Amino acid sequence: MSKRDYYEILGVAKTASESELKVAFRKLAMLHHPDRNPGDKEAEIKFKEINEAYQCLSDGEKRAAYDRFGHAAFSQGGGGPGFGNEFGDFMSDIFENFFGDGRGGGARGRGGAPGRERGADLRYNLEISLEEAFTGKTETIRIPTSIACEACAGSGAKPGSKPRACPTCGGYGRVRAAQGFFAIERTCPNCHGRGEVIDDPCPSCAGAGRVERERTLSINVPAGVDDGLRIRLAGEGESGLRGGPAGDLYVFLSIKPHPFFQRDGADLFCRVPISMVTAALSGEITVPVIDGSQTQVRIPAGTQTAKQFRIKGKGMPVLRSRDVGDLYIQVSVETPQNLTKRQRELLQEFEREASEENHPESAGFFSKVRDFFVSGASRA
Ligand SMILES: [Zn+2]
Ligand SMILES: [Zn+2]
Repeated sequence: MSKRDYYEILGVAKTASESELKVAFRKLAMLHHPDRNPGDKEAEIKFKEINEAYQCLSDGEKRAAYDRFGHAAFSQGGGGPGFGNEFGDFMSDIFENFFGDGRGGGARGRGGAPGRERGADLRYNLEISLEEAFTGKTETIRIPTSIACEACAGSGAKPGSKPRACPTCGGYGRVRAAQGFFAIERTCPNCHGRGEVIDDPCPSCAGAGRVERERTLSINVPAGVDDGLRIRLAGEGESGLRGGPAGDLYVFLSIKPHPFFQRDGADLFCRVPISMVTAALSGEITVPVIDGSQTQVRIPAGTQTAKQFRIKGKGMPVLRSRDVGDLYIQVSVETPQNLTKRQRELLQEFEREASEENHPESAGFFSKVRDFFVSGASRA
């Protein structure tokens, strides 16, 4: 099978510049990448073809040879290097190189510092009480984390010394090896991609550039926060490696259940038992308020269980607002228990005096029940 012309494969003119070649290659490589065309043999062949063409034309020497002699320039070395197992690695190297970490593309020493790694994000679960959510608070938290080593200022090298460029890769972090007419790039085995080596590691951090430490941090929790809130503190996560940027700290807020207040948004609910006599005769009850104070609620005569009373402005503050919710008091009438003989007599006497007027609800209910049975009997 006769080989296609490399320029034709990439769809560029013979005079194409390096950057034109690169653009054309990227476009075609994306299009025919095996990951995008799973199982497509033709795409795979095309992809190999594109790579082969680019590997040749992007190398000045090879390009010159190709321009002079055509494919014959590489007839001994080429033809078909073993793609087999190497193929996957080769692909990933090419793609990392071109589309990946930003320090590739043959731009030695350009594009940031090899070996610097961003620190991990951290999560901290902060549980506060409802009272604390009401007032807001400043919480000092301890975070086990690694921080930049002070002794070496994060470089990992012994104070007074400096990391030096890796001699194997020249500081690039990657090495090239020729295989046939392919230049294959790999992560440098000597420095593992960092681009630098440390001859005298810092004794405090053993060359890592960071040390494990417990860090304390003050977190300002504003008034009105609710359960499930997430606070992001940029740059407060784990510190980066060798001078890389720090990760973020996420504080996940939860609020402990309160013994007698339930919360619904900015409103609070509290269930308060009242005596049968207060409910019947009226009275005043004292109820708790979230700010730690107390307030009086007037219970009118004839109050039934589940009746709600609203106390305006005694709920929770609304986050980042001047609004305040309300407090709802729900009463439940408590039936007296453990009666003395005298109490029983009084209640029995009361019962003898009682009429339907005293219990309109039950009177109404039982009259409905009676009607139900009477009409049932007439139907029969
Ligand atoms: Zn150190
Ligand atoms: Zn290296």
